[in-house]
Amino acid sequence: MGDAHKLDCEAVSDTCRFIIQSENESEAIELATTHMKTVHDQDLSERELHEDHLQVV
Ligand SMILES: [Zn+2]
Repeated sequence: MGDAHKLDCEAVSDTCRFIIQSENESEAIELATTHMKTVHDQDLSERELHEDHLQVV
């Protein structure tokens, strides 16, 4: 199986326990973008998500 793309919000926030893990990269990006925008009021680009938030596991 392929790599999974993971966003672990706990790594960047003390209060959020949100975790996304998906083997579908575009799905992970979409879920992460929506989460960061609605919950953390951060409008992150795909590149910023890759550099700062998404891990490949
Ligand atoms: Zn969060």
